[in-house]
Amino acid sequence: MITDDTLREGLQTPGIAFTIDEKIKIAKIVRDAGIKRAMISYPPAHVSEVEVTRKIVSENIFSEPFALGRATREDIDRIDETGANISLHLPFKLENLPDVIDAIKYASKKGKVLEVAVVDVMKNDIREVIKIAKLVSQAGADIVQLPDTTGSGTPRKIRNLFTEAKKSLDCEIEAHCHNDMGGATANAFAAIEGGADHLDTTIYGIGERNGITDTASIHSLLESEGITTGIDVNALKRAYDLILKFLLDKIGKDFFILNFPVIGSNISTNTAGTHVAYSGVFTGTNMSLNVYAGKSMIKRVLEGYNMQANEEVVKKVLQEVKDLSSQTGKCVTSDQIIKMVGEFNGKSN
Ligand SMILES: [Zn+2]
Repeated sequence: MITDDTLREGLQTPGIAFTIDEKIKIAKIVRDAGIKRAMISYPPAHVSEVEVTRKIVSENIFSEPFALGRATREDIDRIDETGANISLHLPFKLENLPDVIDAIKYASKKGKVLEVAVVDVMKNDIREVIKIAKLVSQAGADIVQLPDTTGSGTPRKIRNLFTEAKKSLDCEIEAHCHNDMGGATANAFAAIEGGADHLDTTIYGIGERNGITDTASIHSLLESEGITTGIDVNALKRAYDLILKFLLDKIGKDFFILNFPVIGSNISTNTAGTHVAYSGVFTGTNMSLNVYAGKSMIKRVLEGYNMQANEEVVKKVLQEVKDLSSQTGKCVTSDQIIKMVGEFNGKSN
């Protein structure tokens, strides 16, 4: 029932970047804790994400490995090549539904398990969410994920949504609850009460902004209600030790203050390029740059310094940001970006 999302959602934690070796280390230690289903990566973002997925899949670390991308043929092919099962997310603004449905049909013919996320379910009326979820399921999705992308759900709203989804859909359903208001664990539990088959969690609850449902917390709640997760808590503790080491080495102990729900500054920090590109949905102004960065993030950094660069230079800088962070396991700073722009501008003169 638990899907570990530390390797993908966890890589969106403000201040975090992982090398390929670090991701493989995390994968093995999470698997040793008894978790069999995992979201490994976002292959369309960078070649390192393709490589790490291939390795994790070929070493059979998880019995159900997934990789994420947008609902486009290009992203679907990229994921398919890694050998992982396919997980897709719909655009934040659903302007072209027929194209999206066409892409889901295309993905369903790849012979993999297909999961599709209807993003940001709390922004829409339940009936509207269920209507889209039905179309997605009918197009061939085996699992429909109903994520509270902005962490604005409450246990009552999430339970109602999942109860309704369970009644109306023929496929499996999955919860993915963000923690902006501190409700990620309670909301995940409510989703299970409503009938969720799968649940995304991460070690220390790390993820985009201030993260999602914490694995140990939800495990303990579920077990106390007689719902087995298959997790070995002593082995899970070793995964927490490893992630703690990464958090302290890469960010420092302030992480736990910055990451606190409601008041911590991480709730206004974006790591996902796809989120910053849709600035109407996510209002955060801080940015953390790693392999998941996007062109709009580079442009925002430059705007902050009253600088401009042409599309070609922005593209080159973005590539350099992704290469560097995946090689070093560190986020790229604004100072490094300014230096890169200077170098690329110098070369083009
Ligand atoms: Zn998320």
